[in-house]
Amino acid sequence: MSQLKQSWHPATLSIHGGEPIADPHGALVAPLYQTSTFVFPSTQEGGARFAGDQPGYIYTRLGNPTVHQLEQRVAALEGMAAAAASATGMGAIAATTMAFLKAGDHVISSDCIYGCSFALFNDLFARYGIEVTFVDMTNVQNIKDAYRDTTRMVFLETPANPHLRIIDMAPIGDFCNQHDVKFIVDNTFMTPLLQRPGDFGAHLVVHSATKYLNGHGDVVAGIVTGSEEDIHLIKYTTLKDMGATISPHDAWLITRGLKTLALRMERHCENANKVASFLNEHNAIDKVYFPGLTNHPGHELVGANKQMKAAGAIIAFEMKGGYQAAVTLLNSLEMIRLAVSLGDAESLIQHPASMTHSPLTPEARAIANIGEGLVRLSVGLEHSDDILADLAQGLNAL
Ligand SMILES: *Cc1c(COP(=O)(O)O)cnc(C)c1O
Repeated sequence: MSQLKQSWHPATLSIHGGEPIADPHGALVAPLYQTSTFVFPSTQEGGARFAGDQPGYIYTRLGNPTVHQLEQRVAALEGMAAAAASATGMGAIAATTMAFLKAGDHVISSDCIYGCSFALFNDLFARYGIEVTFVDMTNVQNIKDAYRDTTRMVFLETPANPHLRIIDMAPIGDFCNQHDVKFIVDNTFMTPLLQRPGDFGAHLVVHSATKYLNGHGDVVAGIVTGSEEDIHLIKYTTLKDMGATISPHDAWLITRGLKTLALRMERHCENANKVASFLNEHNAIDKVYFPGLTNHPGHELVGANKQMKAAGAIIAFEMKGGYQAAVTLLNSLEMIRLAVSLGDAESLIQHPASMTHSPLTPEARAIANIGEGLVRLSVGLEHSDDILADLAQGLNAL
């Protein structure tokens, strides 16, 4: 890599990161290689590619130029050597974790993670003899207490659904490096523009690219970044053999979406700050959970040169009027769309207790403090005045 490239800012990397595709016609935008397979120029060459003696593509599940371009770009943004893209965020999380685990191994996971990650660890891993201990990682001592000789992996998500719980990653990174344990972070809510877990010791960073990385609500996909060695293992074991590889078309769309990531994150964050202040002062609302507010535990990790460059754009809030008030608000909104997912241009709102967190038992929801009056909002890219006006009219309907 040239000196110039190494000093590029994230906004530039999201447009130019990685090697450009050599196109015979000089196309500005790399063409979409919508092909399942690649023709070998000779039998010997085909054999050499299979043997790993010659570079070159073989079959799209094993690699594709359009997918490779996306992988290089996200790796550059995360400050990692390599990446592997996948069909969904869960595809990335499953392929990443399972590449490094076998029966008898132990995993320490945050007790506050995406619902399907929890199901994978708690239900599926148990069937294959992998034990997972879920702990509150806001205190690193809980990780030290859970550690065993068989611990191979620590997994966390920060900030995490739905209360935006923030975990200080640096002490956990130190602990994992001292004990030779793989440290994996789900960075979906932040993107590498706002937080780079690798700078705090994470060995592998996973994303649901469905969210901010693509940013346009038209793709489900995932990606993991890490060292050449770790990514090679993931690509040529779990991802290849279980097959959650990404479609070239989806990779092409995400590469397109990435070009505006820096601009989008800036506007998402600006809008979210305004919305959080508005909600925080509204008398129909009991409590607002947003890392940008000084009352949020973990707020001290937000700011220039801190773990999170900005607070992101996901906000949760508790309605004073409980379930009925939440329903009235959600049903009264005119522009903000009632949908799960996040990180899209459209502002999206949902009711965790009956939607994203409905698979939890009522007891588990009570322990996790997910009440019937809790609402989650993914603040979009519309003009902030229009988002505020829609929330104001929705709250007036109460
Ligand atoms: C959406 C999401 C996932 C799962 O990603 P899919 O693309 O839906 O498979 C994982 N982690 C977090 C934090 C998410 O928001």
